[in-house]
Amino acid sequence: MANRSVCAKLLQKQNHPYFFRCLSSATSSSVAAPSPVNFTEKSEPTTADKPIINFDDFKVLFSSVPTSKLIKSSINLHMVAIEPIVDTGMWVMNSKLTETPLLREIILGVVKNTVYEQFCAGKDLKEVARTVTKLCDKGLKAMLDYGLEHVNDNESCDRNFNEFIQTIESTKFLPPSSVSFVVVKITAICTPSLLRRVSDLLRWEYKDKSLHLPWKLRTFPILSDSSPFYHTPNRPEPLTPEEENHLHLAHQRLINICEKCVETNVPLLIDAEDTALQPAIDYFCYSASIMYHKDDEPIVFGTIQAYLKDAKERLFNVKKAADKMGVPVGFKLVRGAYMSSERQLASSLGVKSPIQDSIQETQQCYNDCAAFMLQEIANGSGSVVLATHNVKSGKLAASKAIDLGIAKDNQNLQFAQLYGMADALSFGLRNAGFRVSKYLPFGHVEQIIPYLLRRAEENRGLLSTSSLDRHLMKKELIRRLTSSIS
Ligand SMILES: Cc1cc2nc3c(=O)[nH]c(=O)nc-3n(C[C@H](O)[C@H](O)[C@H](O)COP(=O)(O)OP(=O)(O)OC[C@H]3O[C@@H](n4cnc5c(N)ncnc54)[C@H](O)[C@@H]3O)c2cc1C
Repeated sequence: MANRSVCAKLLQKQNHPYFFRCLSSATSSSVAAPSPVNFTEKSEPTTADKPIINFDDFKVLFSSVPTSKLIKSSINLHMVAIEPIVDTGMWVMNSKLTETPLLREIILGVVKNTVYEQFCAGKDLKEVARTVTKLCDKGLKAMLDYGLEHVNDNESCDRNFNEFIQTIESTKFLPPSSVSFVVVKITAICTPSLLRRVSDLLRWEYKDKSLHLPWKLRTFPILSDSSPFYHTPNRPEPLTPEEENHLHLAHQRLINICEKCVETNVPLLIDAEDTALQPAIDYFCYSASIMYHKDDEPIVFGTIQAYLKDAKERLFNVKKAADKMGVPVGFKLVRGAYMSSERQLASSLGVKSPIQDSIQETQQCYNDCAAFMLQEIANGSGSVVLATHNVKSGKLAASKAIDLGIAKDNQNLQFAQLYGMADALSFGLRNAGFRVSKYLPFGHVEQIIPYLLRRAEENRGLLSTSSLDRHLMKKELIRRLTSSIS
């Protein structure tokens, strides 16, 4: 595995043991699996007077950010926090106005100089390399995400596959250890219609053990008793020979991607999508994890969405099965980005939503899953990427890791935030000595627009949760201004 040593001189370690009050740790729904180690309430600070993540010293926090970038980010984040601006922007980008060449140029120009510049790493691998190098100088790593959304035919899947291969290949020419992962969306290398069919069959197989799936490879458990089954009300037809062939081709794409990752020494991160397709996505991910791993390090990381009621149970089941097989596993832990569409579908079918009933349950599930993985890492097995902008979860996990004696530079524990978002948390964790990555979507403006729309549409909260960043950036800008005139 690539040497993941921190490359920046700017890494300032502030290693103060600190205990703080955390979120309520009441357990959510119990599951028939190894019981999680919950984050417990800690007493007030005892041995130090500074928090693990220090947001108070904004001079130190933003020391690696030039003033021009700070001003631009501040303006962009203020803009996307204003709902009517986001609504208008989404309406314009979805409208027929984009079909008129001149208007299209103007719209793309505005998008490029605002949200695109804020949230995207560049149009091609050359521009991405510049962004990655800048991040590396700031002590942050990059997760390279070639911005592709769903595709509907094999030719497009092949095209996307080639883009992924080129992306992985490009990491050879980037500063050593600057890339923590290359990201793949399975819907970019296998059509959603086939993923839906495979998910249906996997769901039916879970309920009816007599169902034989001749194409099925060795995998970890994909579903649990608490998983949603309403997507598959009737016994699905077996895959046709043509579908089996397309499934084989998609597998082959993933296998070739894994081989390239092994060759270039960069791990692969597979995004989670919606529950209609997720069983097939997990199937791809777990079968590849079994085939490709190092002795004690995973190469393929899947994603667990804590907003799902079955998240905890599935995480424990996979970890238990992987331990039994002697296969190292890694997970990216997120809260989940498809909440409104999941809820809409469930409500239209008149079934219970697969999403936790309240945000508190999602927070609890996230923190429980994080605590479970941290305990596993402390015990010597497993890897986790804690992908969140939630400051409480970040602090909680950092504190728990220190309590468990996990070294801050342990390569099995990483934090991640989206590029252009939650920079204060990223810098705070970096300053505390942890490994932190930014998730970098890249591609041409036109190609990235669906990504930007998806983020805006499915995750409005995300765009307005930048208040901490905006507040701290403003304070730092005022500090720089006053110190330059005094
Ligand atoms: C590096 C990175 C990679 C990501 N990859 C993926 C991915 O592969 N797949 C994916 O789906 N998402 C992904 N996301 C997005 C992620 O799932 C969240 O949408 C986003 O990060 C916001 O959650 P948060 O933990 O940052 O914090 P917060 O802002 O504290 O939490 C907001 C989240 O809480 C949940 N929530 C909000 N209201 C409720 C409610 N009423 N009931 C239940 N739950 C609620 C939702 O999931 C919402 O997104 C990724 C995020 C990052 C930072």
